[in-house]
Amino acid sequence: TNLDDDAAVSGLVITAHDVTAQKAVEDRLAHQATHDPLTLLPNRVIVDDRLSHALQRSRRDGSRAAAMFLDIDEFKVVNDTWGHAAGDQLLREVADRVQRAARSADTVGRYGGDEFVVICENLASVAEALVVAERIRDEVGRPALVEGAEVVVGTSIGVALSSPDEGTQDLIGRADAAMYEAKAQGRGRIVVDAEPTTV
Ligand code: GH3
Ligand code: MG
Repeated sequence: TNLDDDAAVSGLVITAHDVTAQKAVEDRLAHQATHDPLTLLPNRVIVDDRLSHALQRSRRDGSRAAAMFLDIDEFKVVNDTWGHAAGDQLLREVADRVQRAARSADTVGRYGGDEFVVICENLASVAEALVVAERIRDEVGRPALVEGAEVVVGTSIGVALSSPDEGTQDLIGRADAAMYEAKAQGRGRIVVDAEPTTV
């Protein structure tokens, strides 16, 4: 406020509020809305958004993307045998391992209980996606130390290669269906769906 004409003040009066704490709360809320609190991975909101961008890009430049759907095999046994806290610890370990095994530009998110999704963009071939999926399966399958016990879990992975006209949920749906096929074939497997079937 300009109080230059006020003899008692003769100057400008500036009022300021420190909003640091409010901004910190807003940032924390925004992070919570888009990330899984247990593993700190992006949640399905971000995964779906990144996948939608990946599909747009592949339509534009003809590149291919893949969605990988991972589900831990017999995870309930871990909870039942070592307890829920041990299960939580294993989920965090699996999240780290999937991230390490994926390529640096890939997006890794937690999609549900023991389900993770990996988005791979700019794939040169189906074989390239398979190499990433195999690395993830092998990495997750190494023994892990959970609450002092050595635990070994497998994963079933469904890989769906994008096609130009397909939407996000269709691609995720094919990856999910391929994952179920991997479970049906005996678990610890990778099933690739390279093309959507036209009916
Ligand atoms: P399958 O091989 O068929 O996948 O068998 P599964 O035992 O892994 O069964 P499923 O994938 O259907 O179930 C996953 C289980 O993961 C169900 C639930 O008890 C457990 N779970 C889900 N979220 C969490 C979590 O945040 N922490 C822990 N500790 N367990 C969870
Ligand atoms: Mg499971």
